[in-house]
Amino acid sequence: AVSHIKQVCEVFKTGDNLLVDGVAGLVTLNPKNLTEEKFEKQKRAFRSKWECAKKKSHTIATTKSGKHIRVGANVGCLEDSLMASDNGADCIGLYRLEHIYLKRNTLPSSEELYCALKEAISPFADKSITIRLLDIGADKELDFLDYPIEPNPVVGRRGIRFLLDRRELMSTQIKVLLRLAQQFDIRILVPMVTIAEDILSVICEVEKAATDLGIDKLPPLGAMVETPAAALCINSISQHCNFLSIGTNDLTQYTMAAGRENLSVSEYYLERHPAMLRLLKLIVEESETDDISVCGNLAARTDSLAELVELGISCFSVPPPAIPIVKEEIRNLHS
Ligand code: PEP
Ligand code: MG
Repeated sequence: AVSHIKQVCEVFKTGDNLLVDGVAGLVTLNPKNLTEEKFEKQKRAFRSKWECAKKKSHTIATTKSGKHIRVGANVGCLEDSLMASDNGADCIGLYRLEHIYLKRNTLPSSEELYCALKEAISPFADKSITIRLLDIGADKELDFLDYPIEPNPVVGRRGIRFLLDRRELMSTQIKVLLRLAQQFDIRILVPMVTIAEDILSVICEVEKAATDLGIDKLPPLGAMVETPAAALCINSISQHCNFLSIGTNDLTQYTMAAGRENLSVSEYYLERHPAMLRLLKLIVEESETDDISVCGNLAARTDSLAELVELGISCFSVPPPAIPIVKEEIRNLHS
């Protein structure tokens, strides 16, 4: 798909012939025969590359120099998990919990959340599953929850900041994840961590919930690195974490000061700008844990894989349809 086309209803009329190139993000209006033929050829080449990659997608991707790289999936529902499993995902690298909430008109009870999640992750019963606590605010809002009115929600009370104000909401999720961790290999991921206190507060909540439930073994806990402050002071955060997941979508937005949904500044939203690459390098070099994955859109960009593997990233989490091609590109790397 291609989105965010300016004045789309005026530019395109019913009956127009369109070529939609979702890989390049290009739409050609009423193409000439030659363009159409070239496009068809490109489409066939892409399909055959994809089918070839799919055949090998259930084995781990190893670079030519022997580095094993895990490719996980970003999912939000059972359909995503099924496609991810079919496409050979090595794990669920990011389960976005908000999708369960966004489909409803009321908050789910603990039992409803438990059942919905258990079903959605069932295709990954024997693999690692990283579930992110509810990340709402800014671009993801729930109509049935009271929000503080804020002048600038993107830099407001979103992600973990919101959950720290709504402890009962966080504690329900944590208890559900602790229960699921009795049967699945669950890891808990905290969104929008900016300062070490964010993660320390979640550790307290997890310990409290475990005591309430009489559970001794706690699942690994990790932080999303998606603010420049978290990246620049990663040692203070990572010393309390078992793993990190770099959210390049938000990290790009905050580093480049360009809203991820704001078309008018899209030329500044540069996921591979040197400022981003320096932050990624710093995260890898200064983190106390070497369990670091990238789960933003950058992970699915095949033009970035070599650079990221070179930096030391050994796990990528990408949308389910991208898994076979990302694995194939990794196999072709000399890093
Ligand atoms: C990110 O910010 O890169 C990320 C993966 O989280 P989301 O896109 O859900 O904000
Ligand atoms: Mg994010």
